[in-house]
Amino acid sequence: MIDASPDFKSQLDIIHGEISETKRKGKILVSGILLTHSHLGHCAGLWHLGKESVEEKNLPLYCTLEMKQFLSNSYPFSLLVQRRNIKIEEIHHDEGLKMGGLEFMPIQVPHRNEIGDTVAYIIKSKKKVMYVPDIDKWTDEILEEIRSSDIALIDGTFYSKNEIPRFEEVPHPPIRETIDLLRNVDVETYFTHINHTNPVNRKGRESKYVKSKGFKIAHDGMTLEI
Ligand SMILES: [Zn+2]
Ligand SMILES: [Zn+2]
Repeated sequence: MIDASPDFKSQLDIIHGEISETKRKGKILVSGILLTHSHLGHCAGLWHLGKESVEEKNLPLYCTLEMKQFLSNSYPFSLLVQRRNIKIEEIHHDEGLKMGGLEFMPIQVPHRNEIGDTVAYIIKSKKKVMYVPDIDKWTDEILEEIRSSDIALIDGTFYSKNEIPRFEEVPHPPIRETIDLLRNVDVETYFTHINHTNPVNRKGRESKYVKSKGFKIAHDGMTLEI
């Protein structure tokens, strides 16, 4: 699983499907969790691994050194470390790791890093998949990685800059501009990490425009063959 969002529990329900808790012996069926960064939308779900919930044992949690320090020193995440609900495995930029039959390569991305740094993941299997849920603005390096992917799941937080009054405080590349940057690129591209203010969540001019340019909008429970 990549990141543990506040929807962690319902996402696990999708993964577990019909497999009962008794059959799973109360354990969760993921090989490990890879974190991108410390913003709550990406790590608050870890709380479900603790004593008050499934009391997981040594679930591998892959993250950077800065994230490791943050989790080890901040309550309530520190409890998960102390009780060994999670076992933190440090990752390094541009160094691949293998899990669940896939290879994951973390790459550093610019994001407002109040606490710790931020990575995106390149997932290598038969296909190359790029996952960049959060970035402040596109860099040439990241755009190049997207262009050379088969599938890309990318930051689609906002459709345009004037969508919320405090855009400068929480910058993300607006979908409208990303489409221009990636036009004529032959990659199956999905916008994800969509804010509630983003009009592409509704039927209308904006979502039609995205689709007319050959881009897709990710949705809960979506499956991709990689
Ligand atoms: Zn973030
Ligand atoms: Zn985020």
